[in-house]
Amino acid sequence: MHTERSEELYSRAKELMPGGVNSPVRAFLSVGGTPRFIRRAKEQYLYDEDGNAYIDYIGSWGPMILGHNPDFVLDAVRKQLENGLSYGAATALEVEMAELIHEIVPCVEMMRMVNSGTEAVMSAVRAARGFTGRDKIVKFEGCYHGHADAMLVKAGSGVMTSGIPDSSGVPRGCTADTLSAVYNDLDSVERLFQQYPSEIACVIVEPVAANMGVVVPKKSFLPGLRQLCDQYGALLIFDEVITGFRLQIDGAIGHFGITPDLVTYGKIIGGGMPVGAYGGRKEIMQLVSPLGSVYQAGTLSGNPVAMCAGLTQLRYLKAHPEVYRQIGFLSHRLRSGLEEIIRRYHAPCTVNGIGSLSCLYFTPEPVTDYTSAKKADTQQFKEYFHYMLDTGSYFGPSQFEAAFVSNAHTLREIDKTLADAEDYFASRNF
Ligand SMILES: *Cc1c(COP(=O)(O)O)cnc(C)c1O
Repeated sequence: MHTERSEELYSRAKELMPGGVNSPVRAFLSVGGTPRFIRRAKEQYLYDEDGNAYIDYIGSWGPMILGHNPDFVLDAVRKQLENGLSYGAATALEVEMAELIHEIVPCVEMMRMVNSGTEAVMSAVRAARGFTGRDKIVKFEGCYHGHADAMLVKAGSGVMTSGIPDSSGVPRGCTADTLSAVYNDLDSVERLFQQYPSEIACVIVEPVAANMGVVVPKKSFLPGLRQLCDQYGALLIFDEVITGFRLQIDGAIGHFGITPDLVTYGKIIGGGMPVGAYGGRKEIMQLVSPLGSVYQAGTLSGNPVAMCAGLTQLRYLKAHPEVYRQIGFLSHRLRSGLEEIIRRYHAPCTVNGIGSLSCLYFTPEPVTDYTSAKKADTQQFKEYFHYMLDTGSYFGPSQFEAAFVSNAHTLREIDKTLADAEDYFASRNF
């Protein structure tokens, strides 16, 4: 596989951008080697600057649930482009977006569009603190909620891979009110509530943790969180930046039948454009400016081109429930194929997943939280990753990222990936 052009771009990029990238995982630091510079993408494939094609199991980290560049999304965006890129004023598109989201997820009674998942989380936490008049928040080890100061405590994939427990540049005061609990361990949450019965504003959780690989909640976990929050007067926030409109059209809220007080969205909601959103109970959201005292704003929030892309993709998803059956089926095939290979070659691995999210961990033990995820052998992952990349399957360049399947994938790609994975495991000695 030729990578000369990517190598050249990487060396130029490193001169001017930290790590040569604009978001850390793209630098391949945890797997080594040259990050591939992507020239274009179509449907289930990425094409790099050297002309190599890859089956894409990242999907821009989630947004491209229909595959890259569906014609009808491009057509809608092209039409919108003719009308202008940004106005800094209200538009019909924003109203239609809010109405559609409310129709799909009725408990989102009121919402605000922002520009990223980070912003959505930061703003939702501010609203929760404003509403409850409390300062402390509970998050889970290994859950990632974007890079806002208060959230950079045991924060999953990017931070996890580089082995940095925290970030420098975050004043101690900013995380002093951030308490961490153990995913899938209700007792660890209850202990925090017992310690601070009237100080916790909210519990924020990825309803399926998808930034420490993929960790599915135990049956009692989310109902237990709901119950504890109610008991202690705290708000429950679902960070559905990955799971929203992915697990099923109404996300984890629909899938698990648990209603949070606030929810955050990103990724899919923008159809590949920079969009996030937060919303939930009206009495909480009515506190957000200009109605209430919780300040939050954005020059490009609700950007018409971004709204158009996201809205067009969401409308399609709502009208085509078979998408979810198909991506679930393909992803299940990927997982069961990998499990079979693992058994056959006695590989010390575990496969986790749900719906269209999967993760192959290089540890034989069950992965149910951050501690068990960290047992994975990242050196083994690194070898596997490069073998798969060189044979044309592009997985996230870290052990702790999820593999995403889109509606543009077919059994052909899944089976090709499985055949290559089989060759890899057959050539190792376990
Ligand atoms: C990606 C992600 C975020 C951050 O979103 P950005 O758009 O990258 O700021 C927050 N929460 C979860 C669960 C995510 O996966």
